[in-house]
Amino acid sequence: MDRPFAENLTSERASFVTHLECSITGERYEADRLHGLSSARRPLLVRYDLDGVKAALSRDGLAARPTDLWRWRELLPVRKAANIVSMGEIETPLVPIPVSGGPNVLVKDEGRLPTGSFKARGLVMAVAMAKELGVTRIAMPTNGNAGAALAAYASRAGIETIVLCPDDTPEINVREIAAQGARVWRVNGLIDDCGAIVGKGAAEGRWFDFSTLKEPYRIEGKKTMGLELAAQFGWRLPKAIFYPTGGGTGLIGMWKAFAELETLGWIGSERPKMFAVQASGCAPIVKAFDEGVEHAERWENAHTVAAGIRVPRAVGDFLILRAVRESGGKALAVDDIDTLRAVDDCARQDGLLLCPEGGATLAAWRNAVRDGLVDRDDEVVLFNCATGLKYPMPEAESRLDRNGPIDLAAL
Ligand SMILES: *Cc1c(COP(=O)(O)O)cnc(C)c1O
Repeated sequence: MDRPFAENLTSERASFVTHLECSITGERYEADRLHGLSSARRPLLVRYDLDGVKAALSRDGLAARPTDLWRWRELLPVRKAANIVSMGEIETPLVPIPVSGGPNVLVKDEGRLPTGSFKARGLVMAVAMAKELGVTRIAMPTNGNAGAALAAYASRAGIETIVLCPDDTPEINVREIAAQGARVWRVNGLIDDCGAIVGKGAAEGRWFDFSTLKEPYRIEGKKTMGLELAAQFGWRLPKAIFYPTGGGTGLIGMWKAFAELETLGWIGSERPKMFAVQASGCAPIVKAFDEGVEHAERWENAHTVAAGIRVPRAVGDFLILRAVRESGGKALAVDDIDTLRAVDDCARQDGLLLCPEGGATLAAWRNAVRDGLVDRDDEVVLFNCATGLKYPMPEAESRLDRNGPIDLAAL
């Protein structure tokens, strides 16, 4: 077989899932059944027999496998390899940005994943589980990247998709969703307004609701960011992580990954400071953090250039806030102007084109250094969650007339 990562994809799957658990009440739910939110209307978390994993897999055994997402299969929920539709979910690189950032600032560049964003991690898992559990039609509200990843994986899996976007979602996202086989609709509202329509259809039994954290398996896919980081850092973790936070799936997933790795005895009890980065035009988690409360209120009139973090209300708010607080980190808001300057600096000075959300993490790191939350020399990881190529760039309009005189010295 010439497929890359074939070994990880075809090896007999040995999922160690024991059950699911309500993230707020701890109530137990059976594995291998279709679930949305818990009866308390909160996310469900997947639990594993970690003693079983420990007996089945060692760090050395893991190191011998190809380095894609599926090398972590014992810590993932899919039971049958045949249900996985993979497009090459690679381990993403840590790219230093010494000039626009600092000497030990690394960007985890998630833009290299299928469909150009880390939403692929969550959706490859959620779609595989939907296939495993017999789902044939899925609907989702999205600011763009999640819809694109859903469309790609679900079309490939033969699952029908309906995707609702706020009408000012980046044009390229709406088109890529359509091009990859979803029925996409622009809605005159924000992502939670789209979510309300999806929820209504789901309640009528028209489709399965794939909203962020309203199905249990996207977290498991996003968790692989934390697993990967631990392996890439030689079974320790960086001093701090700056994560652009919308629904917070990735931050919650990484926090879960670290706990599972510690239970396996693969890492110690030290944790990075988790910094949840939001835009000052949409910062519900920052407000809740500053007020010391467990749940965030809806943010009214949300606006920011970073569409991926324009999420006025997050169903997993308390999970984000708990992780940030337990880690000794903080929720930080950055202004769009600083985000755009960070994108520009990183591209010009370090040759790495960030998405606006990634730019927000660089801007937040700069503020955190200024405010003494981290040292300039600390080893930190910023998440660039999508390729910068998906977003509008400054114009470049200089032209040459090849038939006229050309001042070569002026070029
Ligand atoms: C979805 C998205 C985010 C936010 O991720 P969450 O885990 O949902 O908080 C950040 N950046 C980009 C580019 C995204 O697409």
